[in-house]
Amino acid sequence: MKTRVRFAPSPTGPLHIGGVRTALFSYLFAQLNKGVFVLRIEDTDQGRYVNGSEEYIQKALEWCGLTPDEGPYNGGMYGPYRQSQRKEIYRLHIEKLIEKGSAYYAFDKTEALNDERKKAEINGKTFRYGAQNRLNFKNSLTLRDEDIKEKLKDDYVVRLKVNPGEMISVYDEIRGNITLNSDLLDDKILMKSDGMPTYHFANVVDDKLMEISCVIRGEEWLPSLPIHKVIYNAFGWKTPQFMHLPLILKPKGKGKLSKRDGDKEGFPVFPLSWGASSVGFMESGFLPEGFINYLALLGWNNGTEKEIFSLDELKQSFRISGIQKGGARFDFEKAKWINHQHLKRCSSKKLVNIPMVKKRLKGLDPSKHIALIDLLKERLLTLNDLHAEMNWINETQPYDEKVTLKLKSKNADRILEGILKIVGNCNEVDALKDLLIIWAEENEINIGVMMQCFRIALVGELSGPDLFEICKFLNKDIILVRISKAISYFKQKT
Ligand code: GLU
Repeated sequence: MKTRVRFAPSPTGPLHIGGVRTALFSYLFAQLNKGVFVLRIEDTDQGRYVNGSEEYIQKALEWCGLTPDEGPYNGGMYGPYRQSQRKEIYRLHIEKLIEKGSAYYAFDKTEALNDERKKAEINGKTFRYGAQNRLNFKNSLTLRDEDIKEKLKDDYVVRLKVNPGEMISVYDEIRGNITLNSDLLDDKILMKSDGMPTYHFANVVDDKLMEISCVIRGEEWLPSLPIHKVIYNAFGWKTPQFMHLPLILKPKGKGKLSKRDGDKEGFPVFPLSWGASSVGFMESGFLPEGFINYLALLGWNNGTEKEIFSLDELKQSFRISGIQKGGARFDFEKAKWINHQHLKRCSSKKLVNIPMVKKRLKGLDPSKHIALIDLLKERLLTLNDLHAEMNWINETQPYDEKVTLKLKSKNADRILEGILKIVGNCNEVDALKDLLIIWAEENEINIGVMMQCFRIALVGELSGPDLFEICKFLNKDIILVRISKAISYFKQKT
Protein backbone atom coordinates (compact mmCIF):
# COMPACT_ATOMS: atom_id res chain seq x y z
CA MET A 1 0.00 0.00 0.00
CA LYS A 2 1.31 3.42 -0.96
CA THR A 3 2.12 5.67 2.00
CA ARG A 4 -0.08 8.73 1.92
CA VAL A 5 0.11 11.19 4.81
CA ARG A 6 -1.97 14.30 5.10
CA PHE A 7 -1.63 17.56 6.94
CA ALA A 8 -5.16 18.80 7.65
CA PRO A 9 -5.14 22.25 9.24
CA SER A 10 -8.26 24.34 9.84
CA PRO A 11 -7.99 27.91 8.57
CA THR A 12 -8.91 29.45 11.91
CA GLY A 13 -5.85 31.69 12.29
CA PRO A 14 -2.09 31.46 11.81
CA LEU A 15 -0.36 28.11 12.06
CA HIS A 16 1.05 27.60 15.55
CA ILE A 17 4.46 25.88 15.73
CA GLY A 18 2.66 22.73 16.94
CA GLY A 19 0.87 22.67 13.58
CA VAL A 20 4.12 23.17 11.68
CA ARG A 21 5.67 20.29 13.62
CA THR A 22 2.72 18.07 12.63
CA ALA A 23 3.28 19.10 9.00
CA LEU A 24 7.01 18.40 9.35
CA PHE A 25 6.59 14.92 10.85
CA SER A 26 3.92 14.07 8.24
CA TYR A 27 6.22 15.25 5.47
CA LEU A 28 9.16 13.29 6.88
CA PHE A 29 7.12 10.15 7.30
CA ALA A 30 5.89 10.42 3.71
CA GLN A 31 9.47 10.96 2.51
CA LEU A 32 10.81 8.07 4.57
CA ASN A 33 8.35 5.72 2.89
CA LYS A 34 8.67 7.26 -0.58
CA GLY A 35 5.05 8.27 -0.18
CA VAL A 36 2.89 11.31 -0.78
CA PHE A 37 2.38 14.36 1.43
CA VAL A 38 -1.14 15.79 1.09
CA LEU A 39 -2.44 19.16 2.24
CA ARG A 40 -6.15 19.24 3.05
CA ILE A 41 -7.89 22.37 4.27
CA GLU A 42 -10.52 21.55 6.90
CA ASP A 43 -12.80 24.54 6.58
CA THR A 44 -16.21 23.16 7.45
CA ASP A 45 -16.61 25.28 10.55
CA GLN A 46 -17.61 28.50 8.81
CA GLY A 47 -18.04 30.29 12.14
CA ARG A 48 -14.36 29.88 12.95
CA TYR A 49 -13.03 30.69 9.49
CA VAL A 50 -10.45 33.48 9.58
CA ASN A 51 -9.66 35.36 6.41
CA GLY A 52 -6.09 35.08 5.26
CA SER A 53 -5.28 31.98 7.29
CA GLU A 54 -5.35 29.60 4.35
CA GLU A 55 -2.84 31.76 2.46
CA TYR A 56 -0.81 31.92 5.66
CA ILE A 57 -0.68 28.12 5.89
CA GLN A 58 0.47 27.90 2.28
CA LYS A 59 3.18 30.53 2.74
CA ALA A 60 4.40 29.02 6.01
CA LEU A 61 4.77 25.55 4.47
CA GLU A 62 6.59 27.06 1.53
CA TRP A 63 9.01 28.97 3.76
CA CYS A 64 9.72 25.78 5.70
CA GLY A 65 10.34 23.84 2.50
CA LEU A 66 7.50 21.40 3.26
CA THR A 67 5.89 21.43 -0.14
CA PRO A 68 2.79 19.23 -0.43
CA ASP A 69 2.67 16.76 -3.30
CA GLU A 70 -1.09 17.18 -3.49
CA GLY A 71 -3.39 19.87 -2.20
CA PRO A 72 -5.59 22.82 -3.06
CA TYR A 73 -2.75 24.65 -4.81
CA ASN A 74 -1.17 21.93 -6.88
CA GLY A 75 -4.15 19.60 -7.28
CA GLY A 76 -4.06 15.81 -7.38
CA MET A 77 -6.25 12.81 -8.07
CA TYR A 78 -8.15 12.96 -4.79
CA GLY A 79 -9.46 16.54 -4.83
CA PRO A 80 -11.07 18.80 -4.08
CA TYR A 81 -8.70 19.33 -1.15
CA ARG A 82 -10.82 21.95 0.58
CA GLN A 83 -13.60 20.40 2.66
CA SER A 84 -16.06 23.21 1.93
CA GLN A 85 -15.94 22.03 -1.70
CA ARG A 86 -16.80 18.42 -0.77
CA LYS A 87 -20.30 18.93 0.66
CA GLU A 88 -21.95 16.59 -1.84
CA ILE A 89 -19.49 13.80 -0.99
CA TYR A 90 -20.35 14.08 2.71
CA ARG A 91 -24.08 14.15 1.96
CA LEU A 92 -23.85 10.90 0.02
CA HIS A 93 -21.85 9.29 2.80
CA ILE A 94 -24.18 10.42 5.54
CA GLU A 95 -27.07 8.86 3.62
CA LYS A 96 -25.18 5.58 3.52
CA LEU A 97 -24.81 5.60 7.30
CA ILE A 98 -28.50 6.44 7.80
CA GLU A 99 -29.49 3.59 5.49
CA LYS A 100 -27.30 1.22 7.45
CA GLY A 101 -28.91 2.35 10.70
CA SER A 102 -25.63 3.69 12.04
CA ALA A 103 -26.79 7.31 12.04
CA TYR A 104 -30.10 9.06 12.53
CA TYR A 105 -31.77 12.43 12.14
CA ALA A 106 -32.28 14.48 15.26
CA PHE A 107 -34.68 17.41 15.53
CA ASP A 108 -34.21 18.55 19.11
CA LYS A 109 -34.13 22.27 19.68
CA THR A 110 -30.99 23.72 21.22
CA GLU A 111 -33.00 25.08 24.16
CA ALA A 112 -34.44 21.65 24.96
CA LEU A 113 -30.96 20.14 24.99
CA ASN A 114 -29.62 23.02 27.10
CA ASP A 115 -32.36 22.32 29.66
CA GLU A 116 -31.31 18.68 29.79
CA ARG A 117 -27.69 19.74 30.21
CA LYS A 118 -28.60 21.98 33.13
CA LYS A 119 -30.66 19.26 34.79
CA ALA A 120 -27.72 16.86 34.56
CA GLU A 121 -25.38 19.50 35.97
CA ILE A 122 -27.62 20.03 38.98
CA ASN A 123 -27.32 16.30 39.68
CA GLY A 124 -23.55 16.51 39.27
CA LYS A 125 -23.63 14.56 36.00
CA THR A 126 -22.44 15.19 32.46
CA PHE A 127 -25.19 15.28 29.88
CA ARG A 128 -24.68 12.78 27.13
CA TYR A 129 -27.02 12.24 24.15
CA GLY A 130 -26.62 8.52 23.58
CA ALA A 131 -27.90 4.99 23.87
CA GLN A 132 -29.14 5.49 27.44
CA ASN A 133 -31.49 8.38 26.57
CA ARG A 134 -31.78 8.82 22.79
CA LEU A 135 -35.30 7.39 22.84
CA ASN A 136 -36.42 10.28 25.05
CA PHE A 137 -35.65 12.82 22.34
CA LYS A 138 -37.08 14.00 19.03
CA ASN A 139 -35.28 12.01 16.39
CA SER A 140 -35.87 9.55 13.57
CA LEU A 141 -35.70 6.69 16.07
CA THR A 142 -38.66 8.00 18.04
CA LEU A 143 -40.89 9.84 15.53
CA ARG A 144 -43.31 8.38 13.03
CA ASP A 145 -42.33 8.38 9.32
CA GLU A 146 -44.80 11.14 8.34
CA ASP A 147 -43.52 13.36 11.15
CA ILE A 148 -39.95 12.74 10.14
CA LYS A 149 -40.71 13.75 6.54
CA GLU A 150 -42.32 16.93 7.78
CA LYS A 151 -39.49 17.73 10.16
CA LEU A 152 -36.83 17.22 7.51
CA LYS A 153 -38.12 20.39 5.87
CA ASP A 154 -36.82 22.33 8.89
CA ASP A 155 -33.53 22.33 10.75
CA TYR A 156 -32.06 18.99 11.72
CA VAL A 157 -28.76 17.37 12.47
CA VAL A 158 -27.53 13.84 11.84
CA ARG A 159 -26.13 11.91 14.77
CA LEU A 160 -23.91 8.86 14.96
CA LYS A 161 -25.65 5.89 16.60
CA VAL A 162 -23.09 4.55 19.02
CA ASN A 163 -23.82 1.00 20.20
CA PRO A 164 -23.82 0.68 23.99
CA GLY A 165 -21.51 -1.55 25.98
CA GLU A 166 -18.85 -2.14 23.34
CA MET A 167 -15.12 -1.92 23.96
CA ILE A 168 -13.66 0.43 21.35
CA SER A 169 -10.02 -0.30 20.77
CA VAL A 170 -7.63 1.65 18.53
CA TYR A 171 -3.90 1.29 18.11
CA ASP A 172 -1.67 4.35 18.17
CA GLU A 173 1.88 3.79 16.87
CA ILE A 174 3.34 5.95 19.64
CA ARG A 175 1.04 5.11 22.55
CA GLY A 176 -0.04 1.55 21.84
CA ASN A 177 -3.60 0.33 22.33
CA ILE A 178 -6.23 2.79 23.47
CA THR A 179 -9.45 1.22 24.71
CA LEU A 180 -12.64 2.91 25.79
CA ASN A 181 -16.13 1.69 26.69
CA SER A 182 -18.60 3.03 24.13
CA ASP A 183 -20.97 3.97 26.99
CA LEU A 184 -18.67 6.93 27.55
CA LEU A 185 -19.25 8.24 24.04
CA ASP A 186 -21.96 10.60 22.80
CA ASP A 187 -24.05 10.08 19.71
CA LYS A 188 -21.85 12.76 18.10
CA ILE A 189 -23.32 15.11 15.54
CA LEU A 190 -21.97 14.19 12.11
CA MET A 191 -23.87 16.70 10.01
CA LYS A 192 -24.85 20.13 11.27
CA SER A 193 -28.06 21.98 10.51
CA ASP A 194 -26.27 24.10 7.89
CA GLY A 195 -25.60 20.91 5.93
CA MET A 196 -21.91 21.00 6.75
CA PRO A 197 -20.25 17.92 8.21
CA THR A 198 -18.58 18.15 11.60
CA TYR A 199 -14.83 17.72 11.95
CA HIS A 200 -15.14 14.05 12.98
CA PHE A 201 -17.22 13.00 10.02
CA ALA A 202 -15.46 14.96 7.29
CA ASN A 203 -12.07 13.97 8.65
CA VAL A 204 -12.82 10.23 8.58
CA VAL A 205 -14.56 10.30 5.20
CA ASP A 206 -11.72 12.27 3.63
CA ASP A 207 -8.97 10.17 5.14
CA LYS A 208 -10.70 7.14 3.65
CA LEU A 209 -11.47 8.63 0.23
CA MET A 210 -8.02 10.21 -0.08
CA GLU A 211 -6.54 6.79 0.77
CA ILE A 212 -4.57 8.20 3.68
CA SER A 213 -2.46 5.41 5.12
CA CYS A 214 -1.19 7.24 8.17
CA VAL A 215 -2.74 10.00 10.27
CA ILE A 216 -0.22 12.10 12.17
CA ARG A 217 -1.55 14.84 14.44
CA GLY A 218 -1.15 16.40 17.86
CA GLU A 219 -2.01 14.65 21.11
CA GLU A 220 -4.93 17.03 21.63
CA TRP A 221 -6.84 14.97 19.04
CA LEU A 222 -6.45 11.72 20.95
CA PRO A 223 -9.86 12.02 22.70
CA SER A 224 -11.49 12.08 19.23
CA LEU A 225 -9.91 8.78 18.23
CA PRO A 226 -12.57 6.39 19.66
CA ILE A 227 -15.35 8.33 17.92
CA HIS A 228 -13.40 8.14 14.67
CA LYS A 229 -13.01 4.42 15.17
CA VAL A 230 -16.79 4.04 15.62
CA ILE A 231 -17.32 5.93 12.34
CA TYR A 232 -14.79 3.70 10.53
CA ASN A 233 -16.57 0.65 11.94
CA ALA A 234 -19.97 1.97 10.94
CA PHE A 235 -18.83 2.19 7.33
CA GLY A 236 -17.03 -1.14 7.59
CA TRP A 237 -13.72 0.60 6.74
CA LYS A 238 -10.27 -0.32 7.93
CA THR A 239 -8.55 2.41 9.96
CA PRO A 240 -5.29 3.99 8.83
CA GLN A 241 -2.23 4.01 11.10
CA PHE A 242 -2.43 6.66 13.82
CA MET A 243 0.32 8.66 15.46
CA HIS A 244 -0.46 11.29 18.06
CA LEU A 245 2.50 13.58 18.66
CA PRO A 246 3.38 14.76 22.17
CA LEU A 247 2.30 18.22 23.30
CA ILE A 248 4.66 21.16 23.04
CA LEU A 249 4.86 22.47 26.59
CA LYS A 250 5.42 25.94 28.02
CA PRO A 251 9.07 26.87 28.72
CA LYS A 252 8.25 26.93 32.44
CA GLY A 253 5.41 25.45 34.41
CA LYS A 254 2.62 23.21 33.28
CA GLY A 255 0.53 23.04 30.15
CA LYS A 256 0.56 23.53 26.46
CA LEU A 257 2.60 26.32 24.88
CA SER A 258 0.34 29.21 23.91
CA LYS A 259 0.64 32.48 22.06
CA ARG A 260 0.35 34.21 25.42
CA ASP A 261 3.56 32.53 26.63
CA GLY A 262 5.33 33.92 23.59
CA ASP A 263 3.91 37.42 24.09
CA LYS A 264 4.85 37.37 27.76
CA GLU A 265 8.40 36.11 27.34
CA GLY A 266 9.16 37.67 23.98
CA PHE A 267 9.49 34.73 21.63
CA PRO A 268 7.54 33.81 18.49
CA VAL A 269 5.08 30.92 18.31
CA PHE A 270 4.20 31.29 14.64
CA PRO A 271 6.51 30.62 11.70
CA LEU A 272 5.68 33.93 9.99
CA SER A 273 4.25 37.17 11.31
CA TRP A 274 0.50 37.38 11.66
CA GLY A 275 -0.81 40.93 11.36
CA ALA A 276 1.07 43.66 13.10
CA SER A 277 0.92 42.09 16.54
CA SER A 278 2.69 38.75 16.10
CA VAL A 279 6.21 38.46 14.83
CA GLY A 280 7.13 35.05 13.45
CA PHE A 281 10.32 32.99 13.50
CA MET A 282 11.20 34.32 10.05
CA GLU A 283 11.01 37.95 11.18
CA SER A 284 12.92 37.01 14.32
CA GLY A 285 15.86 36.15 12.10
CA PHE A 286 15.54 32.36 11.87
CA LEU A 287 16.58 30.41 8.82
CA PRO A 288 13.90 27.92 7.80
CA GLU A 289 16.55 25.20 8.25
CA GLY A 290 17.14 26.27 11.86
CA PHE A 291 13.45 26.51 12.64
CA ILE A 292 12.65 23.12 11.13
CA ASN A 293 15.60 21.49 12.88
CA TYR A 294 14.46 22.82 16.25
CA LEU A 295 10.87 21.68 15.64
CA ALA A 296 12.09 18.20 14.75
CA LEU A 297 13.73 17.95 18.16
CA LEU A 298 10.48 18.79 19.93
CA GLY A 299 9.49 15.23 20.66
CA TRP A 300 11.93 13.31 18.46
CA ASN A 301 15.58 12.26 18.48
CA ASN A 302 17.57 9.84 16.39
CA GLY A 303 18.85 7.91 19.39
CA THR A 304 22.24 9.63 19.40
CA GLU A 305 23.54 12.95 20.67
CA LYS A 306 23.24 14.44 17.19
CA GLU A 307 21.12 17.55 17.20
CA ILE A 308 21.97 19.42 14.03
CA PHE A 309 20.11 18.17 10.98
CA SER A 310 19.42 19.64 7.57
CA LEU A 311 16.04 18.82 6.08
CA ASP A 312 17.72 16.19 3.91
CA GLU A 313 19.41 14.65 6.94
CA LEU A 314 16.06 14.62 8.75
CA LYS A 315 14.49 12.80 5.81
CA GLN A 316 17.12 10.11 6.15
CA SER A 317 17.16 9.86 9.94
CA PHE A 318 13.48 10.16 10.79
CA ARG A 319 11.98 7.03 12.40
CA ILE A 320 8.75 6.66 14.37
CA SER A 321 10.63 4.84 17.11
CA GLY A 322 12.40 8.15 17.87
CA ILE A 323 9.15 9.93 18.76
CA GLN A 324 8.61 10.31 22.48
CA LYS A 325 5.32 9.98 24.35
CA GLY A 326 5.83 12.69 26.92
CA GLY A 327 5.43 16.41 26.24
CA ALA A 328 8.34 18.38 24.80
CA ARG A 329 9.28 21.59 26.58
CA PHE A 330 9.78 24.65 24.37
CA ASP A 331 13.16 26.33 24.85
CA PHE A 332 13.77 29.48 22.84
CA GLU A 333 17.46 29.69 23.78
CA LYS A 334 17.95 26.22 22.35
CA ALA A 335 16.05 27.21 19.22
CA LYS A 336 18.43 30.16 18.75
CA TRP A 337 21.47 27.95 19.32
CA ILE A 338 20.26 25.52 16.66
CA ASN A 339 19.65 28.43 14.32
CA HIS A 340 23.18 29.66 15.02
CA GLN A 341 24.57 26.30 13.90
CA HIS A 342 22.66 26.60 10.64
CA LEU A 343 23.77 30.20 10.12
CA LYS A 344 27.37 29.05 10.45
CA ARG A 345 26.79 26.27 7.92
CA CYS A 346 24.88 28.40 5.44
CA SER A 347 26.80 29.86 2.50
CA SER A 348 27.23 33.62 2.69
CA LYS A 349 26.14 33.81 -0.91
CA LYS A 350 22.75 32.45 0.14
CA LEU A 351 22.57 34.62 3.25
CA VAL A 352 23.15 37.92 1.41
CA ASN A 353 20.05 37.22 -0.64
CA ILE A 354 17.71 36.94 2.35
CA PRO A 355 15.56 40.12 2.33
CA MET A 356 16.33 41.03 5.93
CA VAL A 357 20.10 40.71 5.31
CA LYS A 358 19.86 42.61 2.05
CA LYS A 359 18.18 45.45 3.88
CA ARG A 360 20.92 45.64 6.50
CA LEU A 361 23.66 45.60 3.85
CA LYS A 362 22.08 48.42 1.87
CA GLY A 363 24.49 51.28 1.24
CA LEU A 364 27.63 49.15 1.71
CA ASP A 365 29.99 48.34 -1.12
CA PRO A 366 28.36 45.24 -2.75
CA SER A 367 31.76 43.71 -3.48
CA LYS A 368 32.29 43.41 0.27
CA HIS A 369 28.91 41.88 1.18
CA ILE A 370 29.96 38.24 1.08
CA ALA A 371 33.24 38.83 2.92
CA LEU A 372 31.38 40.78 5.60
CA ILE A 373 28.83 38.01 6.12
CA ASP A 374 31.68 35.46 6.14
CA LEU A 375 33.15 37.45 9.00
CA LEU A 376 29.96 37.95 10.98
CA LYS A 377 27.83 34.84 10.55
CA GLU A 378 29.77 32.89 13.18
CA ARG A 379 28.64 35.49 15.70
CA LEU A 380 24.92 35.44 15.00
CA LEU A 381 22.25 33.52 16.87
CA THR A 382 19.64 35.01 14.58
CA LEU A 383 19.83 37.31 11.59
CA ASN A 384 18.46 40.05 13.81
CA ASP A 385 21.81 40.11 15.62
CA LEU A 386 23.33 41.42 12.41
CA HIS A 387 22.11 44.84 13.32
CA ALA A 388 24.21 45.16 16.45
CA GLU A 389 27.12 43.21 14.98
CA MET A 390 27.43 45.75 12.19
CA ASN A 391 27.26 48.91 14.28
CA TRP A 392 31.01 49.48 14.01
CA ILE A 393 30.72 49.93 10.26
CA ASN A 394 28.90 53.22 10.51
CA GLU A 395 30.04 54.59 13.84
CA THR A 396 31.92 53.86 17.01
CA GLN A 397 29.53 53.07 19.76
CA PRO A 398 29.64 55.18 22.87
CA TYR A 399 32.87 53.87 24.39
CA ASP A 400 32.54 51.21 27.04
CA GLU A 401 33.13 53.29 30.19
CA LYS A 402 34.48 50.47 32.33
CA VAL A 403 37.10 49.55 29.76
CA THR A 404 38.15 53.10 28.96
CA LEU A 405 38.62 53.82 32.66
CA LYS A 406 41.01 50.91 32.92
CA LEU A 407 42.84 51.78 29.71
CA LYS A 408 43.20 55.43 30.75
CA SER A 409 45.31 54.28 33.67
CA LYS A 410 47.54 52.42 31.18
CA ASN A 411 48.26 55.53 29.12
CA ALA A 412 45.83 54.73 26.35
CA ASP A 413 46.27 58.13 24.71
CA ARG A 414 50.02 57.63 24.29
CA ILE A 415 49.58 54.08 23.03
CA LEU A 416 47.01 55.27 20.50
CA GLU A 417 49.35 58.00 19.29
CA GLY A 418 51.86 55.28 18.47
CA ILE A 419 49.19 53.20 16.75
CA LEU A 420 48.10 56.25 14.76
CA LYS A 421 51.59 56.67 13.35
CA ILE A 422 51.96 53.03 12.42
CA VAL A 423 48.55 52.86 10.74
CA GLY A 424 49.29 56.12 8.93
CA ASN A 425 52.48 54.66 7.46
CA CYS A 426 51.10 51.23 6.71
CA ASN A 427 49.62 50.54 3.28
CA GLU A 428 49.09 46.83 3.66
CA VAL A 429 46.34 45.77 6.10
CA ASP A 430 47.76 42.26 6.25
CA ALA A 431 51.05 43.61 7.59
CA LEU A 432 49.48 45.82 10.25
CA LYS A 433 49.20 43.26 13.01
CA ASP A 434 52.90 42.32 12.87
CA LEU A 435 53.95 45.96 12.70
CA LEU A 436 51.93 46.79 15.81
CA ILE A 437 53.24 43.81 17.75
CA ILE A 438 56.87 44.61 16.92
CA TRP A 439 56.32 48.24 17.93
CA ALA A 440 54.68 47.23 21.21
CA GLU A 441 57.50 44.84 22.06
CA GLU A 442 60.18 47.43 21.27
CA ASN A 443 58.45 49.94 23.49
CA GLU A 444 57.64 47.50 26.25
CA ILE A 445 53.91 47.97 25.84
CA ASN A 446 51.69 45.11 26.84
CA ILE A 447 50.34 43.65 23.58
CA GLY A 448 46.92 42.88 25.08
CA VAL A 449 46.53 46.45 26.32
CA MET A 450 47.66 47.82 22.96
CA MET A 451 45.09 45.69 21.13
CA GLN A 452 42.37 46.76 23.53
CA CYS A 453 43.16 50.42 22.91
CA PHE A 454 43.00 49.88 19.17
CA ARG A 455 39.73 47.96 19.43
CA ILE A 456 38.09 50.57 21.63
CA ALA A 457 39.07 53.23 19.11
CA LEU A 458 37.58 51.30 16.19
CA VAL A 459 34.59 49.55 17.73
CA GLY A 460 33.94 51.24 21.07
CA GLU A 461 33.84 47.98 23.01
CA LEU A 462 35.93 44.87 23.50
CA SER A 463 33.66 42.38 21.77
CA GLY A 464 33.34 42.02 18.03
CA PRO A 465 35.00 40.20 15.18
CA ASP A 466 38.75 40.00 14.64
CA LEU A 467 40.23 43.48 14.75
CA PHE A 468 42.36 43.14 11.63
CA GLU A 469 39.43 41.73 9.71
CA ILE A 470 37.48 44.80 10.75
CA CYS A 471 40.32 46.96 9.40
CA LYS A 472 39.71 45.46 5.97
CA PHE A 473 36.19 46.84 5.91
CA LEU A 474 37.02 50.36 7.06
CA ASN A 475 38.84 52.88 4.87
CA LYS A 476 42.22 53.90 6.18
CA ASP A 477 40.93 57.49 6.56
CA ILE A 478 38.10 56.30 8.79
CA ILE A 479 40.50 54.25 10.91
CA LEU A 480 42.73 57.29 11.38
CA VAL A 481 39.78 59.52 12.29
CA ARG A 482 38.55 57.00 14.85
CA ILE A 483 41.99 56.69 16.46
CA SER A 484 42.33 60.50 16.66
CA LYS A 485 38.86 60.75 18.18
CA ALA A 486 39.81 58.17 20.80
CA ILE A 487 43.07 60.01 21.59
CA SER A 488 41.13 63.23 22.31
CA TYR A 489 38.65 61.27 24.39
CA PHE A 490 41.39 59.72 26.56
CA LYS A 491 43.20 63.05 26.90
CA GLN A 492 40.09 64.71 28.29
CA LYS A 493 39.04 61.79 30.44
CA THR A 494 39.56 62.37 34.13
N1 GLU B 1 -8.47 20.12 11.26
C1 GLU B 1 -7.81 19.58 12.40
C2 GLU B 1 -6.86 20.65 12.94
O1 GLU B 1 -7.15 21.78 12.80
C3 GLU B 1 -7.07 18.35 11.98
C4 GLU B 1 -6.88 17.31 13.02
C5 GLU B 1 -6.45 16.03 12.32
O2 GLU B 1 -5.35 16.04 11.78
O3 GLU B 1 -7.21 15.10 12.29
O4 GLU B 1 -5.81 20.43 13.48
